[in-house]
Amino acid sequence: TLFLDRIEQHNPALNAFITTDGDRTLAMARDADARRAKGPREQCGALLGVPLAHKDIFCTEGWLTSCGSKMLANFVSPYDATVVEKFKQAGAVTLGKCNMDEFAMGSSNETSYFGLVKNPWDMNRVPGGSSGGSAAAIAARLAPAATGTDTGGSIRQPASLCGLTGLKPTYGVVSRYGMIAFASSLDQGGPMAKSSEDCALLLNVMAGFDTRDSTSLQRETEDYTRDLDQPLEGLRIGLPREFFGAGMDDDVRVAVETALDEYRKLGAVTVDVSLPNSGLSVPAYYVIAPAEASSNLSRFDGVRYGHRAAGYADLIDMYSKSRAEGFGAEVKRRILIGTYVLSHGYYDAYYLQAQKIRRLIANDFAAAFKRCDVIASPASPSVAFNFGEKSADPVQMYLSDIYTISTNLAGLPGMSLPCGFGSGNMPVGLQLIGDWFGEAKMLNVAHRYQ
Ligand code: GLN
Repeated sequence: TLFLDRIEQHNPALNAFITTDGDRTLAMARDADARRAKGPREQCGALLGVPLAHKDIFCTEGWLTSCGSKMLANFVSPYDATVVEKFKQAGAVTLGKCNMDEFAMGSSNETSYFGLVKNPWDMNRVPGGSSGGSAAAIAARLAPAATGTDTGGSIRQPASLCGLTGLKPTYGVVSRYGMIAFASSLDQGGPMAKSSEDCALLLNVMAGFDTRDSTSLQRETEDYTRDLDQPLEGLRIGLPREFFGAGMDDDVRVAVETALDEYRKLGAVTVDVSLPNSGLSVPAYYVIAPAEASSNLSRFDGVRYGHRAAGYADLIDMYSKSRAEGFGAEVKRRILIGTYVLSHGYYDAYYLQAQKIRRLIANDFAAAFKRCDVIASPASPSVAFNFGEKSADPVQMYLSDIYTISTNLAGLPGMSLPCGFGSGNMPVGLQLIGDWFGEAKMLNVAHRYQ
């Protein structure tokens, strides 16, 4: 009840949760108590009784699952996403569903149909996005941990702006079944919490092969806590030249450099690496992600579920009115871009080119990881910005993810951890990028600093 009380007290101001259901949460907590009474903890589930919030992109049986959109403002999910099911099996207790940018498109949580989310560190500033509700909930201690999803930075950037630790796993490690699709080849769920240790414990539950997700990877299960305490002597931290040039605010640079000094004291060495094609990551992403979104979002037709316009002349009119009413401006922008770059005559010029750039970016990382064990950079070029500061200019908003997007294009794991404070006493995040399946290594590097 501690967290439920805090939600009741602070959520009206923060708007971090779209849905809470105290009775349901308490029933889950009572179930956890009953399971605990029955046997030793190991047999009861790794997170027995641990309260947890879910981003509203994860289908949760019996709960409204809106994805931050008017389109799904009446959608009560009939089933659980694999991630949600796994947390249930582990004994976790659902505190509620967190606010987010509509269909996870955004970097400030200003595109949600359910209103903006405030950054608990400064209520005039954005919490980041798209997992902004999850981040604000943890930062304000309305939840000890939460799930998020990251297509181009949506776990790492809000974690950075709210002073948290958040991890995007290697593509395919966490099942996407029941996670409402934005850009399927980039989307990946992951944990957000106060520390890397908590993230490791959450990832232990979330990760694993799932026959219901065709891109899920079949591999041995791992214990992501196993290397947390490994010493960092001799660890090679790669610093991509392209990420430390212009574009980053001075306060962010100072905090990141200070963290790197700390790592040198811990025995790590820094090496210069280069990701020559990273300047093309934002343009390539804004072809590939909208292309996939335009296809994924075609399922919202007002027929089977979701919003349906009240009055219409015929079937086509019903589709177009329902979609015109149900989607917000950013979602429509992406559908238009995506449809354009996939259309006959433009496919080769845009989509195919973007896919080639994607390959070059992955190759850059492969070359860099021959020279280092983990890559470090800022997670975001600035601390949390003010509401309205970037929302009028989509390109400015898109540049918020300049350090995070290439990781998704290459399918690599990445995380953000707090590394001090910048202007306005706002938190700064250090991004770590690992090689494929380098989660345990990244968590080790983060934990030794924390
Ligand atoms: N901000 C990026 C976008 O708007 C990334 C979002 C995400 O990772 N879901 O697409």
